Amino acid sequence: MFKAKAYAAQSTTSKILPHQIERRSPRPDDVVIEIAYCGVCHSDIHTARGEWGPTAYPCVPGHEIVGKVTEAGKKVKRFKVGDLVGVGCFVDSCGKCASCKSNEQQFCEGHTVFTYNSTELDGKTPTYGGYSSHITVKDKYVLKIKKGLALDRVAPLLCAGITTYSPLKRYGTKKGSKVGVVGLGGLGHMAVKIAKAMGAEVTVFSTSPNKEQDAKKLGAKNFIITSDLKNFAAVSGKLDLIIDTVSAKHDFSPYMGTLKIGGTHVLVGAAPEPNQVAAMALIYGRKRLAGSLIGGIKETQEMLDFCAKKKVLADIELITAPQINDAYERTVKGQVKYRFVIDAKSF
Ligand code: NAP
Ligand code: ZN
Ligand code: ZN
Repeated sequence: MFKAKAYAAQSTTSKILPHQIERRSPRPDDVVIEIAYCGVCHSDIHTARGEWGPTAYPCVPGHEIVGKVTEAGKKVKRFKVGDLVGVGCFVDSCGKCASCKSNEQQFCEGHTVFTYNSTELDGKTPTYGGYSSHITVKDKYVLKIKKGLALDRVAPLLCAGITTYSPLKRYGTKKGSKVGVVGLGGLGHMAVKIAKAMGAEVTVFSTSPNKEQDAKKLGAKNFIITSDLKNFAAVSGKLDLIIDTVSAKHDFSPYMGTLKIGGTHVLVGAAPEPNQVAAMALIYGRKRLAGSLIGGIKETQEMLDFCAKKKVLADIELITAPQINDAYERTVKGQVKYRFVIDAKSF
């Protein structure tokens, strides 16, 4: 074991403050990573504040991790000391079930070991995330990052990138597809960039009129202010797919009317409160309401390679660890442009 610096929440209402944790010494199939940057995902906030159910404290959030390998176990073949790597939302799984075998470790039928607020496969050792100086991870769950990219702008791809790439790909986004993105925050801005890179025409739905120029710069063609339902008419029946990234309860009904027949509204935003949908809104036009959870290791690597090739990186505000609490407040108010990323030197 070795000591690592970290920032943690101690209760649902506490601030994120300095904390020391122990990381395991590398096993033969582990790598030790010196963290360079970690993104601030809204899931960190939901979890630190216990909004999704009980959280185990102390909680060290962070699952958009990039850094450098400083130690590699004897059996590790994929990485060597000095390699640039990433870690996303999970760090282990059973490896044997149908989901793991089909490279969808996020749906492991045994136990997906999430990067934080979870336990190791032993069911008791707590996991701590990327608001930290170092992390030890099994090599199979570590992603390769190409050299020459701005690493701080790569970090958000490890969650926001894969969470939006996966459903965009699953539902066949290609040149000429018409994609709606609801909510222009961390996930939303990545959805716009990735959909555009796949060749789609993008419509952003937002509660923030002041984000229109940014949305267009990010690659959106249309921008719809959702506070006035009349504005939805501009894309009535036009969209193939909607990626809904909103972090709070909102009415899905007006979006159903913007889908083509057979179109799909995918929820990735995970509002803690349940919602209601009128059956008729789905029945007329054979619409689908779906969900999507991050992506498996293979797809995450594919997304990183796609983004490197297409020069898709996150738009970020780099912060130091003491600024995390202010960053949370601004994120909750929808005022992030468009992802906060923590410089790990400040832990
Ligand atoms: P974020 O940066 O805070 O972005 C969310 C955006 O939603 C805001 O910028 C805002 O955009 C809009 N919004 C916020 N409150 C709203 C409200 N009350 N009504 C309508 N729109 C509202 O958050 P994020 O990091 O992108 O995460 C978004 C959600 O996805 C969170 O719930 C997170 O936990 C979840 N998530 C899910 C997965 C998954 O695998 N499914 C992975 C990562 C994150 P506008 O200003 O444009 O309206
Ligand atoms: Zn996340
Ligand atoms: Zn499994």
